[in-house]
Amino acid sequence: MNKEILIGSHVSMSGPEYYLGSVKEAISYGSTTFMFYTGAPQNSFRKPTSELRIAEARELIKQSGFDESKIIVHAPYIINIGNSQNSELYEISKRNLAQELRRVKDFGLSILVLHPGSHVKTGIENGLNSIINALNEIFENDGTDVKIALETMAGKGSELGANFNEIKSIIDGVNKKERIGVCLDTCHISDEGVDVSKVDDVLDEFDKIIGLDKLLCIHINDSKNPRESHKDRHENIGYGYVGFETINNFVHNPRLSNIPKILETPYVNGKAPYKKEIEMLKNSTFIENWRDNL
Ligand code: FE
Ligand code: FE
Ligand code: ZN
Repeated sequence: MNKEILIGSHVSMSGPEYYLGSVKEAISYGSTTFMFYTGAPQNSFRKPTSELRIAEARELIKQSGFDESKIIVHAPYIINIGNSQNSELYEISKRNLAQELRRVKDFGLSILVLHPGSHVKTGIENGLNSIINALNEIFENDGTDVKIALETMAGKGSELGANFNEIKSIIDGVNKKERIGVCLDTCHISDEGVDVSKVDDVLDEFDKIIGLDKLLCIHINDSKNPRESHKDRHENIGYGYVGFETINNFVHNPRLSNIPKILETPYVNGKAPYKKEIEMLKNSTFIENWRDNL
């Protein structure tokens, strides 16, 4: 028997069902895990978690056999802890991030994916230090044990964390090592310049620089652009430059069997592609022109 793979997608969380709706959506795609934002990704206005139907959702999570330790929350992407010279945004970002960690805890979850930040013309060194100082301050005071998974970025603009060495230097500066990990995004690392086609070589490199024990989540996206384009535009599985075979090799690599794999591929004509993409990846079989029959 094939052990069930840990795979799911980004799902929405909106009224009236909120988190209960997120779980139902994940189930409808045949997922074994999922990821969501606790509010709109582009702002930090957040409904109190008491209104998000968490208790009912957790009941359904239990009934459906999801492992809560593998369900992922993504932090709002307006948070930028990479530029302490913009002190207003830096302080707001730290406050929002600490708030988000407490919200993750309210959901009964333990992993928050975070874009490390952008240095915005202040230089890589200042940027990395800004991130390290913010994380240390937050981990000292937020009162949770929720982990932050720093996402590997495509290197668009002044994004930090666009290579394994930058991620590693952030981790080195964090005092509470048990609270920091990494989310590897296949579209982003390809766009940054990694040859993703040899999956074991990528994992060896990751292991050598960061340590595979730090890997908490994988975003499995195809890319609209060739390697080293620094664009960050996700594509549906099998339609981009990463390709079905490589993504399938990530999904089924035995070294990654315990790592949640999350699709963040684009909707097709207003329809979620995830049921189809998950089915193809579960079966390791690409269906030619699958988007035409969604
Ligand atoms: Fe992300
Ligand atoms: Fe991602
Ligand atoms: Zn992306």
